[in-house]
Amino acid sequence: MTMDASQIRATLQKARECHGLSTSEADALLSLPEEWDAELFARAREVKDKIYGKRVVLFAPLYISNYCSNSCLYCSFRMENSALKRVHLTQDEIRAEAEHLIKMGHKRVLLETGEDDASTLTYVLESINTIYGASVNGHNIRRINVNIAATSTENYRLLKRANIGTYQLFQETYHEPTYSQMHPAGPKSDYLYHLGAMERAIDGGLDDYGLGVLFGLYDYRYEVRALLDHAEHLKKSKGIGPHTISVPRLRPATGTDYPLKHLLTDAQFARVVAILRLAVPYTGIILSTRESPAMRDFLLDVGVSQISAASVTTPGGYARPEDADAGQFAGADHRSLNECVDSIINRGYVPSFCTGCYRHQRTGLEFMHLAEEGHIKEFCQVNAILTLAEFVATYGTESTRLAADGQWEAWLRQIPDAKLREQTRLDLAAVVMGERDKYV
Ligand code: SAM
Ligand code: SF4
Repeated sequence: MTMDASQIRATLQKARECHGLSTSEADALLSLPEEWDAELFARAREVKDKIYGKRVVLFAPLYISNYCSNSCLYCSFRMENSALKRVHLTQDEIRAEAEHLIKMGHKRVLLETGEDDASTLTYVLESINTIYGASVNGHNIRRINVNIAATSTENYRLLKRANIGTYQLFQETYHEPTYSQMHPAGPKSDYLYHLGAMERAIDGGLDDYGLGVLFGLYDYRYEVRALLDHAEHLKKSKGIGPHTISVPRLRPATGTDYPLKHLLTDAQFARVVAILRLAVPYTGIILSTRESPAMRDFLLDVGVSQISAASVTTPGGYARPEDADAGQFAGADHRSLNECVDSIINRGYVPSFCTGCYRHQRTGLEFMHLAEEGHIKEFCQVNAILTLAEFVATYGTESTRLAADGQWEAWLRQIPDAKLREQTRLDLAAVVMGERDKYV
């Protein structure tokens, strides 16, 4: 579908209402010439501000094992990579990783692992328990999201019972011939089993689920259309849209060998993020340290709502940075958590360590309705302020403290409801005086 200038304007105008766009409207926006970028990005920023306000949620990945029986051509954990030092963390080592993340100030982790006979679901469940149980001076990890291989409904039920936040699984590519080429062996080579994972996850009770594409494997326009169709299909058939969409972009990785025909330029990638923001406005968009600091800063302005920070993709690499060369791919943002926090503040956003929705059971449909109706940002802004205050008081550098101190009043003013604003002002004072874990 191609659009003339008046149709483009009408579609961008429609997107401002935050009810989303059809796949064909999103597809047409993907073909817009560059002169529309400024307007497209401005609309995406406006929609993100309307739904989520100014908060940007932070998290870190925690890799527990890099053994893998798959052959994904793009990943250094592929079983054929004999040069990779293989690591399968013990529960003590996992606890040590969690403690390092807690000492940085993280409150949310994304548990990740390769798919291997040693990394059974029992091992994953034990690891979740270990991470939730880790504690440093009364501080702990408050939410564990999980990104592990496609599995059965019964296993998803067990993950739900283990109290995970979001279950994420990337389709990598929706283009079946490319999928087969990229996944020549191992359990992941079954395209339909991988594609059906979210249906099984939802049936297992995981109502917060996250989709994603590994951008760069195939034509990005095809992937965006298919991703939106997948989201729409799940929303129609299961009643719940995706809680998040991740936008990993292919990075160099040791021991890999794959064709590089479909890499996106930065401009194309930014358009993808902006169009996803307009097409599924209620969905969080997650960006990792695969992107450079400049790109990450820029993409906050076009729709990204969650970012990882100070990430290591080597199992055990937080406690033993000297071993961090066994990572899954090369990261591009090596800033510390405090540096990321400073940069978010300096760009006019509020860094957030919030885990409130999941702990108050605002998940699945309830979260979606709150987001769709534009109410979620009331919780987001309050919790961003309170969790950032706790971070600054406990882990903040002088520079973070200075950056935040200039903003508390402005951030409080962004809470529209006067009663909630005054309550948050009191709660903020309590956190500054030493109270912890305050959220709505
Ligand atoms: N092993 C499980 C799987 O593949 O579904 C869990 C996720 S894996 C640890 C995390 C994600 O890293 C993969 O889904 C893939 O999209 C991404 N990844 C792998 N190699 C990459 C590379 N070279 N560049 C960027 N992302 C990559
Ligand atoms: Fe294994 Fe996942 Fe890497 Fe594929 S992407 S080799 S399944 S860790």
